[in-house]
Amino acid sequence: MTDFAATKAMFHLPDNVTYLDGNSLGPLPKATAARLARTVTDEWGEMLITGWNRAGWMNLPRRLGDRIGCLIGAEPGTVVLGDTLSIKVYQALASALEMNPDRKIILSDTGNFPSDLYMAEGLCKTLGPDYALRTVAPEDVADALSNDVAVLMLTEVDYGTGRKHNMKALTDAAHDKGILCVWDLAHSAGALPVDVAGCNADFAVGCTYKYLNSGPGGPAFIYVAPRHADVARPALSGWLGHEAPFAFERHYRPGVGIDRMRVGTPPILQMAALDAAMDIWDGVDMNALRARSIALCEQFIEGVEARCPALTLASPRDPQNRGSQVSFRFTEGYAAMQALIARGVIGDFRAPDIMRFGFTPLYIDETDVGHAIDAIADVMKNDLWDTPEYKKRAAVT
Ligand SMILES: *Cc1c(COP(=O)(O)O)cnc(C)c1O
Repeated sequence: MTDFAATKAMFHLPDNVTYLDGNSLGPLPKATAARLARTVTDEWGEMLITGWNRAGWMNLPRRLGDRIGCLIGAEPGTVVLGDTLSIKVYQALASALEMNPDRKIILSDTGNFPSDLYMAEGLCKTLGPDYALRTVAPEDVADALSNDVAVLMLTEVDYGTGRKHNMKALTDAAHDKGILCVWDLAHSAGALPVDVAGCNADFAVGCTYKYLNSGPGGPAFIYVAPRHADVARPALSGWLGHEAPFAFERHYRPGVGIDRMRVGTPPILQMAALDAAMDIWDGVDMNALRARSIALCEQFIEGVEARCPALTLASPRDPQNRGSQVSFRFTEGYAAMQALIARGVIGDFRAPDIMRFGFTPLYIDETDVGHAIDAIADVMKNDLWDTPEYKKRAAVT
């Protein structure tokens, strides 16, 4: 049994705030500040350059990879941390495309996160006019798995609506057609049980600052299936992915296995923050987390639909087809979200009209969901969003 009251006590949550945006930026674990202070003063401060060896900095991307691997069903030694998710998407796509050289098409869905699609387009442009990104509606992906597709690139859980693809079924169907699969787990890792090995995923990537609480700008991760790890050629051939970085050889030789997906110097302070955040998962059962996430989402949907007829559910109604977030459509959704934030209920807005709420059982409980429903009902019933102040768009929505 996972003790979710105990995990909630491990987070710093500001007074009078109900935080439903952990799907975008996880909150601060209480242990992080002291851990960072230790890394700064005891390691960087006292050890200086020797910290790379003595404090184990050089191995941190691999050690953290194994910790995240436990949450996503990855074999030990198949996940490494570094860079940002956009970069890891590019790396995975470039390697996968090269492993399927007779085909030139990347297939994705129109709901995918823009950066994933932009990176794919940029890569195609670099590779030449034969390469192209093809997008279809999320529900049409299975039918679009044709023999000219080299790589299927999907985000398991849609960032806007929370719609969840069937990772196992789509991977199997893609493999039947000779297509390699790159899965983006940005809204899956730490949100629901994932089994990359059981699904036979070829590559998987994800970020750590959302459900894994590593802090703003925390490093991304990449998984390469063991059957590909020594075959996949790294497109970003940085020195730390070299087999012997400190031999300083004139020519690049890819490292053994997942090490070749490393690029340059890892951000040790961010990784220390991630390491502190990962301690929270030690006592968490992912099936218990999923059951609780579904219960909180169901409570939220029922409450909001009963009291806010102006809001339309944008997420799948069946919890099996949904991640750990709930989205509602409302034309003035941006202003309504600002009104909610002013009242201490923090979600976010995704253009054109989506109000997005993340449910993270590590630190959100039924009482929080009740507060959120009350606040939304108040904002909607009394048109509290309808002021010029709430309609002015900030840089980050
Ligand atoms: C959050 C998110 C990103 C963000 O990429 P960064 O490089 O970390 O800014 C990319 N893809 C998906 C699917 C996301 O949800």
